[in-house]
Amino acid sequence: MRSAPVDLYALLGVSRSATAAELRRAYRQLALRHHPDRAGPDGAPLFAQIAEAYRMLSNLTARAAYDAHLFQRETLHGRQTTAAQADGGSWSVSQTGWAATWQGRLVDLLPRLTGTLEELAAAGVARVDPAGTLELDLSAAESVSGGTAIVTLPLRVPCPTCGGLASPRGVWCRRCEYEGQVTEAVPVRIPIPPAAREGHTFSVAAGRPGAPAQRVRIRIPG
Ligand SMILES: [Zn+2]
Repeated sequence: MRSAPVDLYALLGVSRSATAAELRRAYRQLALRHHPDRAGPDGAPLFAQIAEAYRMLSNLTARAAYDAHLFQRETLHGRQTTAAQADGGSWSVSQTGWAATWQGRLVDLLPRLTGTLEELAAAGVARVDPAGTLELDLSAAESVSGGTAIVTLPLRVPCPTCGGLASPRGVWCRRCEYEGQVTEAVPVRIPIPPAAREGHTFSVAAGRPGAPAQRVRIRIPG
């Protein structure tokens, strides 16, 4: 069953840069309001949708895939492509709520360059140099076509427990102690332009508030 594309962020009433805490807060308020005990049986489908939206967006990997899907959909819409083509799959709504998973995949995803840094390093296609720049090795074909890589990197981000308030002369936090930051696995979406050249270096946003931009260098060892 097909249905109009949905925006999970809009459903929860949060921005696309919402933190985990903001998502949780929005979800709790909506879940309370639309719980069938309160809203009656008519509220059940919406309640299920809200729960599923939260389940998706609170999972790092699922959220990265969904963000990439949104980006893809919106970019391709600008090129007069239909939603169905852009999605390469569908989100559907049924009596029981959302279909459990996003069945599609990115039209231009480069699977060989998508995964955790550890996996890609083990495959010999990615590494982080001493200056912190992520190097990605493209095949000749990939360097011609370009595409999207999604690399999950360990990044320093503001501590979600104390909100970054902890500091050596200030507050102690049970999670980060005095750091104010923690290292988290953050999926970073890396759009690689077509006809990329050896050594091309650029920055991408880490897709997490407070996380620094990530430098990326293209290598074409072919
Ligand atoms: Zn902390």
